[in-house]
Amino acid sequence: MKKIGVLTSGGDAPGMNAAIRAVVRKAIYHNIEIYGVKNGFQGLIDGNIEKMTIGSVGDIIQRGGTILRSARCDEFKYDQGQNKGIEQMKKHGIEGLIVIGGDGSFRGAQKLTEKGYPCIGIPGTIDNDIAGTDFTIGFDTALNTVIEAIDKIRDTASSHERTFMIEVMGRNAGDLALWAGLADGAESILIPEKRDEMNDIIDRLKRGQERGKKHSIIILAEGVGSAFDYADKIKETADLKTRVTVLGHIQRGGSPTASDRVLASRLGAQAVDLLLSGQAGKIAGIQNNQLVSHDISEVLAEKHTIDMNMYQLSKELSI
Ligand code: ATP
Repeated sequence: MKKIGVLTSGGDAPGMNAAIRAVVRKAIYHNIEIYGVKNGFQGLIDGNIEKMTIGSVGDIIQRGGTILRSARCDEFKYDQGQNKGIEQMKKHGIEGLIVIGGDGSFRGAQKLTEKGYPCIGIPGTIDNDIAGTDFTIGFDTALNTVIEAIDKIRDTASSHERTFMIEVMGRNAGDLALWAGLADGAESILIPEKRDEMNDIIDRLKRGQERGKKHSIIILAEGVGSAFDYADKIKETADLKTRVTVLGHIQRGGSPTASDRVLASRLGAQAVDLLLSGQAGKIAGIQNNQLVSHDISEVLAEKHTIDMNMYQLSKELSI
């Protein structure tokens, strides 16, 4: 293999730039030409492809977002779109591709691999919802952003004796909510993996009220539903006015934490090594602090699970 490509796809995540940097530098270290594809699979279809150099990834390790930009591209879900992408790779002599993104992006990478173009996926999403890796790039930064915001809300919650419900991202995974709840000592956490806990939360709020507790923080993962609907339920059942804050897209931005930069550097370099050693249709991941690789097909078939011991702990610590 002499020429490879790299793209970022799906939702952006802090640390994607650090991963691009690692891919580019590791490829050059191995004397491989490296091409950056702009705007995800849309850019692959359009031939928006540029050769990258050591300098093109200078001064980006600390920057959020992605210099290659990201996109969602419906056309790529179909044979016709994938074939257009392959034509462009052929035109540029690109023999393998590294795809940084979430599960949707890995489906695209898998399709290219099945059509004879080897791809390696790097999990880059704040949701931490990919099986086969303990952490995804961007999760730690988003978690720290969430905690910073909750700390501020807690100040006002305790000053004004109010109950706050804070909706955090995570798609169908509760990781961001659970980790943030544990790190911030939230009174209650509502996650998609345990969506039947609403009655328990209301019981807790009532018990708290009886004890004279006047403020609390409830963290709700977006995968459970709208925080406004749940706040209405609390009002109806416990007669408690709940203020809602939806943190939204601030969670996707910002300079990546040291942890995300290191993870991105390790996974980026590993992805290049996997591709150059003849592997295809794999994702680079980390488990028990060891670099691992798994078949994309297995990762997509396996459901991401949450650490229920952590969930139990969060309940025990917020009695
Ligand atoms: P995030 O978790 O941040 O949303 P993601 O990678 O899961 O990231 P998606 O929007 O699901 O984001 O997918 C990104 C892109 O991957 C899509 O816009 C499309 O171009 C491609 N893609 C998704 N599903 C498929 C599929 N089944 N076949 C081919 N390509 C796909």
